[in-house]
Amino acid sequence: MGQELSGQYYARIKSSDELPDGTRIVQLDAVSADALQPLIDSPGRLSDYRGALNAGKAPAERLRDVAGVAIRVTLGPGDSWDRDAADTWFRLGVSGEGIAAAATIPALLEPRGGNALIAPMVALRGGVTEPERVDPQTVQALKAIYSIDHWETGTPEAVAEALAGLPPAEQVVMFDVGQAGTSALLDDTGTPFLYVDLGWPLFEDRANAPDPPKLCFWRRPPVILTHWHDDHTQGYTFQEESPKDPHRKDPLKSVWIVPEQEITANDFKLGEAIRVAGGRILVVKTDQPITVELGSGQRLIIRRSAGHDVNDSGLVLIVERDPVDGAPGTSWLFSGDCAYGNLRTIPERVSVLTAAHHGGYLNDKGDPIDPPPRPAGKGYARLLYSFGPHSSYFHPLKESTDAHQGKGWRHRKKKGSDEIDEIDWPGGLDVLSTSTAKADGVKRSAIAAGWTGKPDLPGHLRSKECMGKIEIRR
Ligand SMILES: [Zn+2]
Ligand SMILES: [Zn+2]
Repeated sequence: MGQELSGQYYARIKSSDELPDGTRIVQLDAVSADALQPLIDSPGRLSDYRGALNAGKAPAERLRDVAGVAIRVTLGPGDSWDRDAADTWFRLGVSGEGIAAAATIPALLEPRGGNALIAPMVALRGGVTEPERVDPQTVQALKAIYSIDHWETGTPEAVAEALAGLPPAEQVVMFDVGQAGTSALLDDTGTPFLYVDLGWPLFEDRANAPDPPKLCFWRRPPVILTHWHDDHTQGYTFQEESPKDPHRKDPLKSVWIVPEQEITANDFKLGEAIRVAGGRILVVKTDQPITVELGSGQRLIIRRSAGHDVNDSGLVLIVERDPVDGAPGTSWLFSGDCAYGNLRTIPERVSVLTAAHHGGYLNDKGDPIDPPPRPAGKGYARLLYSFGPHSSYFHPLKESTDAHQGKGWRHRKKKGSDEIDEIDWPGGLDVLSTSTAKADGVKRSAIAAGWTGKPDLPGHLRSKECMGKIEIRR
């Protein structure tokens, strides 16, 4: 795979994460500049291209073949970092030697999931030139090519119609996918009927990816994408449709509800793959809440967050339940990677909370980690952390576990101490985590949470057709 990736690339910053020691991991998505140049240089071709794309025609398929690489850069605490860089495009060169250097670190050059649509990855070693900002006209042309506006707008009516007929939720399952996020809502038979993100770990964190977990797509469940980061999108690459097994349907044939955000070339490939596969992609642009009734006094509330970066401006899902049989009304909150302070709707009572950003820092502005409080009393509540063992981001961070503990979410403490126990653990008290270390001989596990107590594990969920033989903690 080495040499043919040499060349000039246009690249956008995909994600940027500060680590506790002050270093910063930046990921760029890059596409072949040579392949795109004719489109960029000719306004006529660009407008023909846009017209054809909007009509669902061929150019998108050609663009899917444009060579791409994902590049990971680690900046030291002293290196300057310009937050505005996230909004622009760069040009850089990748040479054979750079790829050869990366190839000596297999996890860095592995094509993601073996799917032809997915870019290989290189680490920024000697053979990648310093990224240079491109001129405004080229930025404009690149933004016009890789624009989320080519896809259908998810008006509240369109989203409600696409999600109509979903059953009430009996439980939530968060899958162990390593340093990434994938959760599902399940009905009373234990069948997943809606996914929140389909994530997969990248780069060094590939090492903590489990054997591909089985994801049940039997009911063709819609997918709500919280935001356009690979650790929330790339999980579709491990599932291939099997005509012999009706549970293994192609996630690309589902409806995907996604947030309007600036996308990279690789995000664009995912969206086009969904369209080509016969799925549907609905882009939520409104800041207003979208409400979908599930029956039995339950509803979904989907809402864009109020922040500006990718983590902070995506979709958040709330599953709300009215008071029932003396139990108070309560909600499950899927915060994605969004800082709690940027949620536009915070339910009054949250009994299941997915910890924001896998328990990491929340955004570049250093906003405080301010989670919703645990419901008062000793009743059932669950705080869920999704991350892989020995994550390269050191998730979850002490700042996060302390902040959640401070809001009443009960973490396990070290023996004879008030310090929270390290979370390379299965959890304890209110807390469950997906992190289990294969190397330590611990079985992989998903976690399940319910409304008022530990959920049952109904037949479908435990069957080999659905999740197979993985442990489900609850
Ligand atoms: Zn993210
Ligand atoms: Zn994430």
